[in-house]
Amino acid sequence: MNMVWAMTGAASGLVTGAALRGPVYRLSVPTGSPDRSACERCSAPLRRWPGICCRRCGGSLGTPAVLEVTTAVVLALVLGRFADQPDAAAFAFLGAVGVPLAVIDVAVQRLPDRLTLTAIPALTLLLAGAAITSSKTGPLIRSLLCGLVFAATFLLLALIRPGQLGGGDIKLAALLGVALGWLGWPTLLAGAAIGFILGGVGGLALLAMRRTTMQGQIAFGPFLLGGALIAMLASGIPVK
Ligand SMILES: [Zn+2]
Repeated sequence: MNMVWAMTGAASGLVTGAALRGPVYRLSVPTGSPDRSACERCSAPLRRWPGICCRRCGGSLGTPAVLEVTTAVVLALVLGRFADQPDAAAFAFLGAVGVPLAVIDVAVQRLPDRLTLTAIPALTLLLAGAAITSSKTGPLIRSLLCGLVFAATFLLLALIRPGQLGGGDIKLAALLGVALGWLGWPTLLAGAAIGFILGGVGGLALLAMRRTTMQGQIAFGPFLLGGALIAMLASGIPVK
């Protein structure tokens, strides 16, 4: 872990998290509903870049500090791990998109297309830049292949068990497949396995706390993102 890069990641994560508060607040609406355009408490219209509080009533837009702290922790871990490598920007970008996706999925059980479908080409471009910088095309081809395979696996799972996984999960799988594939097939497998284990444990915990039922749906995105993060961080450590 490169401490200087980790601290840079933490600082940039705090700023990024605060900047993301407005967009996340807008998008934290159930599927099919229009974006939120006003403060929940006082109905004051949101500004184009609303900041972190409502201008009229001063109420926090979303849960205070969650986005800032989570983004800071994720970017500290990611930049500490990838530091000055050519792929650091791509993984930092994934972290900065992954946190809002997880927060929105927890709030309203949805992974907005506007985030996933924008992030897939953006991440691919950043990885293509890293491939050019390091003069290696192999990882990029593997990335695209893994994105396809991971998304296809989720599509299959969604078809076998309708209602458990949604379209948003399939698009998230494509995004994470591209990222983990860059690091290798074992990293993709590890990320998927950890994601499903975390999802299983998380589901049981929610059942135990009576926050869901056997038939209830839980947001799977945060577990998948968590699994991918752990696999990414562990990817540089040699397996004995
Ligand atoms: Zn307000």
